[in-house]
Order: sequence, then structure tokens, then C-alpha cells
Amino acid sequence: MKNLKNILAGGLFGISSFFFTQCSQDPHSVPKNSAPLTKEEINHVFGDLNPGLKEALYSSKVYFLKNEDFLEHLENKYLGGHTFYDALNKEINVCFPIGKDSLKNFKYVRAHESAHARNYYLDYFLNSNFSDEWKQIANFEYDLNKVTVLEESGICTFFWKDGASEPKYGLIKPYSATNIREDVANFVELIGRNSFLNPEDISYLFEGETKNEGILIKDYASSFPLHFADTTDHRYQKKLDLLKEYNFLTNEEHKKLTKDLGSLNYLLKK
Ligand SMILES: [Zn+2]
Repeated sequence: MKNLKNILAGGLFGISSFFFTQCSQDPHSVPKNSAPLTKEEINHVFGDLNPGLKEALYSSKVYFLKNEDFLEHLENKYLGGHTFYDALNKEINVCFPIGKDSLKNFKYVRAHESAHARNYYLDYFLNSNFSDEWKQIANFEYDLNKVTVLEESGICTFFWKDGASEPKYGLIKPYSATNIREDVANFVELIGRNSFLNPEDISYLFEGETKNEGILIKDYASSFPLHFADTTDHRYQKKLDLLKEYNFLTNEEHKKLTKDLGSLNYLLKK
């Protein structure tokens, strides 16, 4: 049992620090010789995403860029993707770097960037009320100054001002506090996470733990933010419901995330 726990803890520490999805929404020019993906290519690469997310991608320009082209405009920060609205050409651009380190190989990154695309699609192409409704539910003033950013080798990690990173204020993680679109995308990316360990396993591991290991539990909380969310804050559920209403999530995905929501929060209170 102890061995299993050490293995899982080691794996999760690695994974939790790997779970960054910082992306940029600043407009930049895509190199002229780049061709966007065809619908068939989108179906191939994003085949594991739901119809609502794919619908937004079909209406976007999706590019796979060479690492140097991708990074050129981003001050060499290492990012999962780069989705922005080009107001001049009225186009949604979704850019991923290609190469062996590309995070597009992970479903949660594809889901995150596609969520940005759907958010822009609803705002600019369909003129929907989604973003206004989200703001009302969130009741939060998004501000980069609410978080601390640590940068190491081009990778930025976001923390609350007290150094913690568990879900708070109806937000999945500190990065969500930076702006409304990241708040949205950080919920949607959850459909691509959590598949490597069952919450039941975590619960089992931490049943009967001593208070000294509270720090470790907090680390799990930032790896499984939805499971550790405090459901007395109703914003989490309301946001999931709104995402289903606007087809960021299927009924199935919504059901699964609703089931996971807050299911391990009691471990934080032990
Ligand atoms: Zn993002």
C-alpha cells in the first residue's frame, strides 16, 4: 500500500506541475505560407472532442505551426496553444505548435483551446448571451493581480497570493482568475483530464491520513480541482450547467463532471 501511494504521489506531482494550460489570446499574424486544417483534418485530430467544440473549430482557422513560428509572438513562453479573435478579418484563429513536445497530443489541451474557439464563436458569430450569463454567475472581477506567477524556463505557474492553488471563488484554478475566457476553458478542459486515476482510489489512499499529510492532499486538490471544489459555493455547478446549455459539454460529460464535483472536498476538512 505504501509503495502504491509513493508511486501515485510521485506520478501526480509530475503531472500536476505538467498541467499548465497557459495560452495566449493576444492577436498575432499567422505566417503567410501557413494553411489551415481542412474539415477532414480537424475531424481526424479532434475526433475525440464533442460536436459543440468541433462545430466551433469548423468555423475557425486551425493551424499547426512550426515551433519557431508559434513562439515568435509569445516571448518564447511555452504554451499549450494560442487561440484569438482577429477582429479585422472576423476570424477565430486556433494555433498549436507541432513537434514532439506539442501539448496538442493531450485531449485536455485540445479541449481547452477548442473551448476558447467556441466562446469566440458564440460571442462574435452567434451574438449569444453566453459570456454575459457566465459573468453573472461568476460574480468575480477577473484580474491578473489576484494571482502570483512564477516563471521557470518559459513555463509559467499560477498561484493564489497565499501560495496555494486549490479551486476557490467558483474558479477551477488560479489561472482562471486572470480573465473570463480562461475561467471558461479551464472548466471545459476537465473533459480531457482525470482519466489516469479514479477519485475512489484517491479517497482510499487518504482515508485515515494524519494532519501532517495535509500538504499532500492539497497537492492532489490542484491536480483534481473539480473533485476538491467546495459545493457550498454554487457557482461551480451553475457554470457546468451553463456549459451544457451552450454545447461546450454533452449531457454525458455534464453528468460525469457533476458527479465528480466536490466528491473529495471532505478530505480537505479532515
Ligand atoms: Zn486558455
